[in-house]
Amino acid sequence: MESIWFASCPIERRNPLDRDIKTDIAVIGAGMTGILTAYKLQKTGKSVVVLEANRIASGQTGKTTAKLTSQHGLFYHRMIQDWGEEKARLYAQANENAIEAYRGLVQEEQIDCDFETTDAYVYSQNAEMLKKEALAAQKLGICASFVPTPHFPIDAAGAVKFQNQAQFHPLKLIAPLAQKLTIYENTLVLSVDAHQIKTNRGTVWASKIIFACHYPFIIFPGMYFARMHQERSYVLALENADPPEGMWIGADEHSYSLRHWRNMLLFGGESHRTGKNRQGRRYQALRQKARELFPNSRETAAWSAQDCITPDHIPYIGSYAPSRPDWLIATGFQKWGMTTAMTAAEILCDQLCSKENPYADLFRPGRFSAQSIPGAAEEGAQAMRGLGKRFFQVPRETAETIPQGHGGVVWETGKKTGVLKDQSGKTFSVSPHCPHMGCQLEWNPDEQSWDCPCHGSRFDRQGNLLEGPAQTGISHS
Ligand SMILES: Cc1cc2nc3c(=O)[nH]c(=O)nc-3n(C[C@H](O)[C@H](O)[C@H](O)COP(=O)(O)OP(=O)(O)OC[C@H]3O[C@@H](n4cnc5c(N)ncnc54)[C@H](O)[C@@H]3O)c2cc1C
Repeated sequence: MESIWFASCPIERRNPLDRDIKTDIAVIGAGMTGILTAYKLQKTGKSVVVLEANRIASGQTGKTTAKLTSQHGLFYHRMIQDWGEEKARLYAQANENAIEAYRGLVQEEQIDCDFETTDAYVYSQNAEMLKKEALAAQKLGICASFVPTPHFPIDAAGAVKFQNQAQFHPLKLIAPLAQKLTIYENTLVLSVDAHQIKTNRGTVWASKIIFACHYPFIIFPGMYFARMHQERSYVLALENADPPEGMWIGADEHSYSLRHWRNMLLFGGESHRTGKNRQGRRYQALRQKARELFPNSRETAAWSAQDCITPDHIPYIGSYAPSRPDWLIATGFQKWGMTTAMTAAEILCDQLCSKENPYADLFRPGRFSAQSIPGAAEEGAQAMRGLGKRFFQVPRETAETIPQGHGGVVWETGKKTGVLKDQSGKTFSVSPHCPHMGCQLEWNPDEQSWDCPCHGSRFDRQGNLLEGPAQTGISHS
């Protein structure tokens, strides 16, 4: 399902790569991270090309809610406890600076992207937690306060308000920047070996390579598969909903995200680990809540997206791996990739221009932190469960017991098969194993897709690749 961003801002198409080329820098991925990074690097005089598997912004950037804020949920009280005040201050500053950098970019390039300064709020039923967060944020220099929420439609004990944040239309910002760049669309990177990038359209030789492809698809080195998982959330665009002022996010279980764009409310929620959605009904639950809170509203669009979550909740930005000094990466944005994409563009640009960056060490992908150990162990355990299921779990369903409109893994002609039964009873069969690392896929009834619970790759009902880290589709059985 298409987001309101694509429906309101078509982006000019680009041709695929049609020959072998050489460049200073190749950026893989034309989302917000790839575009901002390529734009900044090109301004320093370097020759840059962007390789995009699909269309510009067709990844998560085209499905975001595009809030620009340093308020990443209830984050700073916990961060000070886990990492200390100095690191928490750096994190806050990096994100506040990113908002200013967007303001500067919009002005400098005269971009009409519905950029609007507004306040951000995180709401909760737990007033104590909110007050602690407001104090922590103030300590770090953020203009934050605990406020009551008498007019907010969701029951809450109050909210933490961050002043002077912003929201915008992500594609309207990207479109004019993309026009200045050399971008090859429909050019899927298949493999990278030192400075050689093989795509489905030709080979690119680059002195430096930036992985801005959301979830890195290379397994070794780097081992990002052991250090991240993906979480999916659902969004409705509602007319006639009378949206509250500002941008909102909930901190409790079953909470929601709200912002307006023009006369519409973007209402998001129903988060879950990608691949853990067997029961489905996420859109249904979100629609029910929307009817309850905004009874006069009318839905104009619905879509979903996913983002990478790191075990210590800090993104990875910087050198890809010690054995690959000319590869760089930006990933693990925790659903806060708008400010983080700008931070990444600045860190990566400084690194390639041999300039110090005050935030580089905080986001260094090679960091080892005590905070990440339990999360990394859970990632490993989850991958083992996904593989274990493939080899040891005997399917309980049969093609006959799968209801119409649903899918499931069944035992058929001596092997496991993923079977979808459409509304007319017709069945579609695929291999139920993820080509990335072999985990058993799960059927996602909401998006009618096969999703991987280990690392979040997704495939449509015919088995075509929707999103990585996998690089190929799943074969028909
Ligand atoms: C529901 C939801 C709401 C969100 N709302 C917000 C918000 O309000 N504010 C905020 O700050 N963040 C938000 N986020 C997070 C934010 O949208 C993402 O972090 C951000 O868009 C990621 O941008 P990116 O450029 O890194 O990745 P993407 O936009 O996914 O771009 C990566 C690109 O790489 C391409 N690619 C992948 N593999 C290859 C390959 N092998 N070869 C060539 N190209 C390849 C893909 O096609 C894609 O276009 C939200 C996330 C979700 C899930």
